[in-house]
Amino acid sequence: MIIHQIEELRKLIKSWKKEGLTIGLVPTMGALHNGHLSLIKKSVEKCDRTIVSVFVNPIQFCPGEDLEKYPRTLDADTKLCEDAGVSIVFAPSPKEMYGEGHIMSNDFLTYVIPPFFYVNKLCGKSRVGHFDGVCTVVNKLFNIVQPDFAFFGEKDRQQLIIIKKMVHDLNIPVEIIPCPIVREESGLALSSRNKYLSENGKKEALVLNRILFNIKTCYNKGIKDVEALTETAYSFLNANHTLEYLEFRDKNNLEEKKVADDNTIVFIALHVENVRLIDNIEL
Ligand code: AMP
Repeated sequence: MIIHQIEELRKLIKSWKKEGLTIGLVPTMGALHNGHLSLIKKSVEKCDRTIVSVFVNPIQFCPGEDLEKYPRTLDADTKLCEDAGVSIVFAPSPKEMYGEGHIMSNDFLTYVIPPFFYVNKLCGKSRVGHFDGVCTVVNKLFNIVQPDFAFFGEKDRQQLIIIKKMVHDLNIPVEIIPCPIVREESGLALSSRNKYLSENGKKEALVLNRILFNIKTCYNKGIKDVEALTETAYSFLNANHTLEYLEFRDKNNLEEKKVADDNTIVFIALHVENVRLIDNIEL
């Protein structure tokens, strides 16, 4: 079943709460694939009721990004959710979420702003304001759905760390459940944006996975120096790749590592055919 209106969803949730049912929320932007499905399955398993939100959130896109062309496949998404045992697909319009006009502006809208230390690096560096948009919409979804559990993918690891921080700092009564990255057999991490890649681009995109897994192999062999580990990446790159960042950071607070350890995550962002791809691996 699909619901577009906040009030309608609220009524239903109220009745579920009265019955003492647990609620899981899986926030998405739609164009669902097996990565999303793994979160959905986890929620359906763990919770009495699962809500999947499908909302291409305008305020998390920066000027010049792919807001207009972002894939929208609501019918297929709804079918996939129904087959997976989801109770409700919540698909509000931007107007339903933010009201008319001025939606991109924090002059007229209350934002939730994550700490600067968490957003001034990795994806936040090139996508200025992105995580403000993410935290604002996720906070709104938490308030609307009041879930017991919310499921987020490790694919967007910086996002996951920032959401956990927000939940902790603002005492939001929800448990965040992290879910491992789902990959194609080739190793490419599933992403709705992979649809923008040509067949050849998909092959070129395997470089992210190769760089990360090679770093992990080197780390397991005893190389801990981050400079040395970073250097191993360069032999994989060619003219079809534009590296945005390759960074080693602490898995809890995103502090930079000079020497890798078991709390280190290696983050990569790289452009292929003008498509921005991200991936990460835990050492
Ligand atoms: P999105 O629709 O891209 O905003 O993603 C919605 C949720 O699905 C986020 O928590 C993502 O981290 C998660 N997700 C997307 N792709 C994957 C993947 N390949 N593996 C695991 N989780 C994913």
